[in-house]
Amino acid sequence: MIKTDAVIIGAGPVGLFAVHQLGIKGLKSEVIDNLDKAGGQCIELYPDKPIYDIPAIPECSGKSLTDNLLKQIRPFGSNFHLNERVQEIKEDKGIWILKTNKNKIFTTPNIIIAGGVGSFEPRKLPLKELTKFEEKSVFYSINDKTLLKNKKISIFGGGDSALDWALELSKFSKVTLIHRRDDFRGSPHTINELEKLKADGKIFIKTPFQIKSVNDGKVLKFIEIKDDNEKTEKIETDIILGFFGLIMQLGPIVEWGLNMSKKKIQVNTENFQTNKQGIFAVGDICSYPGKLKLILSGFHEAALASVECFKRARPNEKYRFQFTTSSKEIQDRLGIKK
Ligand SMILES: Cc1cc2nc3c(=O)[nH]c(=O)nc-3n(C[C@H](O)[C@H](O)[C@H](O)COP(=O)(O)OP(=O)(O)OC[C@H]3O[C@@H](n4cnc5c(N)ncnc54)[C@H](O)[C@@H]3O)c2cc1C
Repeated sequence: MIKTDAVIIGAGPVGLFAVHQLGIKGLKSEVIDNLDKAGGQCIELYPDKPIYDIPAIPECSGKSLTDNLLKQIRPFGSNFHLNERVQEIKEDKGIWILKTNKNKIFTTPNIIIAGGVGSFEPRKLPLKELTKFEEKSVFYSINDKTLLKNKKISIFGGGDSALDWALELSKFSKVTLIHRRDDFRGSPHTINELEKLKADGKIFIKTPFQIKSVNDGKVLKFIEIKDDNEKTEKIETDIILGFFGLIMQLGPIVEWGLNMSKKKIQVNTENFQTNKQGIFAVGDICSYPGKLKLILSGFHEAALASVECFKRARPNEKYRFQFTTSSKEIQDRLGIKK
């Protein structure tokens, strides 16, 4: 069981800045995100797109904003629980108990929901028999490519992720790339590379094909694919990778008894608390009159929520507003040496 001052659900830009605002007040936080990396929409949807409206930063990319937010919160040593989704919450005498889909339990007086447009989840292959192989031999993202060495890998998808991984993994494994259309959506350079490897017999490409079936039993051995005329082929396979993009789902958050309207959580703008004491909502997921879905609005919301979190986590201490430049206490927390 992990006990902390605040649990932040969502490691998008607003969740990351919430770590900072809690941290400078001396509060510890744990961050949970369904994705395999921090950054939310900035990293998942537009890592290279320029952003021009972050105060005092004339231009940055989604990736550089995320990298800088992570750098800014490093002194606070928050733990990140990635690839993990908060499934259930319950209250016991003013303390919230959270359980994730990996059965990790957290106890805390404060939950900050910074879940954006919901948890990003991979679109999955349309064959329910594959579920039992997930995270063993069927994957929708890759954390450690060394585990995929010397394998027979079937990759499904026709976009950049599928093509890039097909190229990369073909360096040390037997790769078959399967796509339901004849055309790929990758960059011309990547498609040329694939064609060369195919001509040299270093990669196998099957189009237009889709998955039809998979072997029974506990260990993945082969898949069957079919084309538009129901012609089938059997492919020996140890690993299936699917890259069909992401869908966004609010998921279990809707079951937590929070006041919601149009898939957003209603908050009180004094402290961004929801209708449940100790549960806050900030960033794109919150709603109030005049709400702007901008990163800078989320930063402000996280700052105000953190003040109320302090009052709940340290009920016997008085909250004192301080500037970071003039507070020795804050500078110590940031590890600044003068
Ligand atoms: C193409 C595009 C361009 C944009 N350009 C700009 C711009 O120039 N300037 C600007 O200010 N804004 C811009 N925005 C908007 C900006 O990206 C959002 O306002 C911002 O990302 C919101 O941050 P957030 O932290 O609230 O949520 P998100 O970035 O959506 O992050 C939420 C995180 O929470 C996770 N999550 C959700 N539910 C759960 C759960 N139950 N368990 C675990 N994890 C969960 C998700 O996986 C996600 O990582 C743009 C948006 C898009 C799509």
